[in-house]
Amino acid sequence: MSLIVQKYGGSSVASAEKIMNVARRIVQAREQDNQVVVVVSAMGDTTDELLELANKVSDSPSARELDVLLSTGEVVSSTLLAMGLKSLGASAISLTGAQAGIRTDNSYSRARIMNIDPKRLRKEIKKGNIVIVAGFQGINEEMDTTTLGRGGSDTTAVALAASLKADRCEICTDVEGVFTADPRIVSQARKLDEAGYEEMLEMSTYGAKVMHPRAVELGQLFSIPILVTSSFSNTSGTLIHGGITVEGRNKVTGIAHDLNVAKITVVGVPDKPGIAATIFEKLATAGISVDTIVQNASIENITDLTFTIAKNDLGPAMQIVKPAALEIGARDYVSDSDVGKVSIIGTGIQNTPGFAAKMFTALSREGINIMLISTSEIRITCIIKEEKVKDAVRALHRAFELEQAQK
Ligand code: ADP
Ligand code: ASP
Ligand code: MG
Repeated sequence: MSLIVQKYGGSSVASAEKIMNVARRIVQAREQDNQVVVVVSAMGDTTDELLELANKVSDSPSARELDVLLSTGEVVSSTLLAMGLKSLGASAISLTGAQAGIRTDNSYSRARIMNIDPKRLRKEIKKGNIVIVAGFQGINEEMDTTTLGRGGSDTTAVALAASLKADRCEICTDVEGVFTADPRIVSQARKLDEAGYEEMLEMSTYGAKVMHPRAVELGQLFSIPILVTSSFSNTSGTLIHGGITVEGRNKVTGIAHDLNVAKITVVGVPDKPGIAATIFEKLATAGISVDTIVQNASIENITDLTFTIAKNDLGPAMQIVKPAALEIGARDYVSDSDVGKVSIIGTGIQNTPGFAAKMFTALSREGINIMLISTSEIRITCIIKEEKVKDAVRALHRAFELEQAQK
C-alpha cells in the first residue's frame, strides 16, 4: 500500500460541486489501495477576499490577527471536504495546521516550517481515516497561528509528504501540469512530462506560480517525487524529480514571468565599502527579499545602486531606503513599480554561448527595452516594463521554439 499526499488548490475547491469532485477523486485514489493525506487551499478567491476585508478595517492590520484571519479560509475548505467524503461513505477527518503538528518560526505571513510532529496524523491514518489538513498554516512557539506566504499550501503538502515519508506528493490544480510557459499567456505552451527540481525551483521562484518555490526546495531536500496534475481530468501531469537525463541539458525548458516586481534606485552613492551592506542589512532585518542587484561602474567615486523587490514590499522598503540613503550620503532615491521580470530557464544554459544573445535579440525585435539583467547557472532574467511582459513571454517562447518537443 502506498502513502500519497494530494494537494488541491483554490480553484479546485471553489464551490460545493468542486469539493464533491475532489472528494470523488480522493475516494478513487483510496480504492486503488492508497493511504491518502490531503491538503487543501481556501475556496476560490477566499484569501484575497479576507485580505480585502482586513484592509477595510485597518490601514495596517495586525500581522498576528491577519494570519489567524487568513488561515480560516483553509479551515472552511478542509472541514467541507471531510463532510463531503463522509457523505460518500469514506472515513475522513479534518485537521488544522496546528492539529497536524506543523510548527513554524514567528514570521507572520511568511513563516517557515521548523518541524512537523506527525503523531496525530499517523494515529488517524492508522484508524483508516483520510486525513484532510488545512494548508498554508502552522503554529509558532507561542501557539499562535502563522501562515506560510501566498501559495503556501503546496509547501504544507510537500512538508507533510517528507514528514510521513510518503511515496509521492501530488499537486492537483487547474492546469494539466507544468508548461513551457504560463498556458494562460502562451496558447501554444507545451506540457512538460518531467522537470528537475533545480529548474522547477528557478521557474517557480521567477514567477511560475503553479508551484510554491519552498515546496520545490523541500521536495529536493527530501527527494520527494512531486506530480503536478489536473484536478479535473485524468492526464499524466508533470513529474518533478531529481533524476533528469543528460539529454535534457543545455536547452531552454521554459519561460517564467513575474508581474509582482518593483525597482528601487539609490542615486549618487559614494563608492566605498559598507554602503551596500547598510541598505541590504536593513532590508533583510525587515524580512524583505532583494533580487536582481546592479551597481553601476563608478564615475569619480559616485555610483548608482539598483535592485528589485516584490511590488507588495515597496511601501515598507521605501520606509527603510529613505533614511538609509540619507545615512550613506546618497543624492536621491527613486522607485518604479511598473516593471516585471521575464526569465528563460534551462539546465546549463548560462555556460553555453548563444542563449543570452538569442534572448536579447528576441526582446529587441519586439521593441522591448531591457532595464536590468541577472543570471544564474540555469537562468537569464531581464527586468522590463510591466506592460511588455506578456509580449516578451510569447516572443521568447517562439524564439526558443518551445511549442515543439525538444530534441
Ligand atoms: P492552485 O490554486 O491550484 O494552487 P495556482 O493558481 O496557484 O493554482 O497555480 C496554477 C496556475 O499557475 C495556472 O492556472 C497557470 O495560470 C499558472 N502558471 C504560471 N506558469 C505556469 C507554468 N509554467 N505551467 C503551468 N501553469 C503555470
Ligand atoms: N489560500 C492561500 C493563498 O491564496 C494559500 C494557497 O492557496 O496555497 O495564497
Ligand atoms: Mg498555488
